[in-house]
Amino acid sequence: MKFGREGPQEVISMELQSYVEGKWQRGSGNGTTLVNPANEQPLGTATADGIDFSRALEHARKEGGAALAQMSFAQRGEMLRAIAKALHANRDELLSLAMANGGNTRSDAKFDVDGAIGTLTAYADWGVELGEGPLLADGDATQLGRSARLFGQHVYIPKPGVAVHINAFNFPAWGLGEKAATALIAGMPIISKPATSTALVAYRIAQIIVDGKLTPPGVFSFIAGSTGNLLDRLTGHDVLAFTGSSGTGSALRATKSIINGNSRVNVEADSLNAAVLGPDVENDSDVMNLFLSDVVRDMTQKTGQKCTAIRRVYVPKAKVATVIEQLRERLGAVKVGDPTREDVTMGPVATAQQLRDVRSGIGKLATAAKIVMGGADPVAGIGAPSGKGFFVAPTLLFGESPAQGDAVHELEVFGPVATVMPYDGTAAQAAALVAAGGGGLVTSVYTDDKDFLRGAIVGIAPFHGRVVIGSSKVAGQAIPPGTVMPGLIHGGPGRAGGGEELGGRRGLAFYMQRVALQGDRALIDGLLKR
Ligand code: NAP
Repeated sequence: MKFGREGPQEVISMELQSYVEGKWQRGSGNGTTLVNPANEQPLGTATADGIDFSRALEHARKEGGAALAQMSFAQRGEMLRAIAKALHANRDELLSLAMANGGNTRSDAKFDVDGAIGTLTAYADWGVELGEGPLLADGDATQLGRSARLFGQHVYIPKPGVAVHINAFNFPAWGLGEKAATALIAGMPIISKPATSTALVAYRIAQIIVDGKLTPPGVFSFIAGSTGNLLDRLTGHDVLAFTGSSGTGSALRATKSIINGNSRVNVEADSLNAAVLGPDVENDSDVMNLFLSDVVRDMTQKTGQKCTAIRRVYVPKAKVATVIEQLRERLGAVKVGDPTREDVTMGPVATAQQLRDVRSGIGKLATAAKIVMGGADPVAGIGAPSGKGFFVAPTLLFGESPAQGDAVHELEVFGPVATVMPYDGTAAQAAALVAAGGGGLVTSVYTDDKDFLRGAIVGIAPFHGRVVIGSSKVAGQAIPPGTVMPGLIHGGPGRAGGGEELGGRRGLAFYMQRVALQGDRALIDGLLKR
């Protein structure tokens, strides 16, 4: 299949293969069909049925683990840099694949692909900074006895197993890249599995890594299709990093081998991210503009299929009418259709199942809120064949009496959908409503009022992995809440999965064993020399 800047040149069905035990392998059976969500044309099939996952794991642990153990942090950093460069060299093709298989506009596709390249590059730099030693010091040493000679030092060392990475459908490039970056710098070989429905981008990335011989044997494996009995074969030295829905996350945590082996599991699940407009924010101010832009971007970027997208919008009661009017105006300019067209600003959702879920989710939200724009009705996408494509309209709701336990505070509708709700202008009520979402990845607070901000942060922060503060001094340079930065942690408590990824060097801890070394200071210092 040839993909250029404008998208796929021809539609042919390709068979995606898995790369395990150092070779590309076909699965058995018909597999799952991958489609273009803008026109429902098949793009390929994927199945990993019949693949021997015991041997795949053994190969990764033995060959990959040994190869990474021979490499310093700096060398692993250079390995990531080579991957980032190779992805950049193939960027146009990757963008086209994301547009074809993910329903991404070019801008959405860049968000995913450039996010992967940027995160790999950031970790490449941190790897080089960590230097040539085999161990990482964790904090300061402690003197243990009367003599300064006897002391204790915590260190991190790579875990001796394999890191299994399972990703969600919405970020096939970034999901693979951000998990690979931290695991590989830390020194663990990976087996990466994208969501099957949008796997084309990740598959091409896997080909680029394998064909370019960018990792030593066993360090990188890839599964196109289901993981079969792979998780049943994990040991306590392996780890699982999962991104996807809460339901799948909980089911995977309950895998017998994972429980029995006490294997580490990191879950990044769903989240009812919120935006809170402070009572001090004036109409037509820079902060109001930032708030409105963030809400509209989060609702429509990647057709709202972002784990960090704003789903709940809390506004002081007196400003609700103005905010809804402004949002309607901006959302009214969104053009829904075939994402390869330049005039289209929002593509379809990724799959037929997603479309069904979003439509039924809007219906459920409508039990607690009124639809003020959009809705669950079928949408004819600009440039799409008649009756085809998984399109949905940007949908805004108004929930007059928000309350813990209502559908808006319980249900993640994974599409271009958000609900505006009033609060009484106090930080205490805003924080209580935000917390009613059960724990989230990110919430943004827009204010210049220091007292309001303090109250909001104290109330909101314990329920989140990240809080973004939008104020007049940073309005011109603010990074949107939906953008995950490699240097800051990504994850959140409660319904968000309780996980934590990235955060610069912090992200390595998941893939490493922390050990307390106790003995002669000079000998231990020698081990830590770079
Ligand atoms: P999903 O249906 O839970 O699937 C996620 C991944 O799990 C896919 O790769 C899927 O593979 C795999 N999977 C499903 N059942 C499995 C099993 N029994 N054993 C092993 N793997 C299994 O989620 P999704 O629909 O792809 O993603 C949407 C959800 O992800 C949303 O709720 C969103 O909020 C969340 N999300 C969270 C984050 C975050 O960082 N917190 C980021 C992105 C998305 P198949 O595709 O082959 O079934």
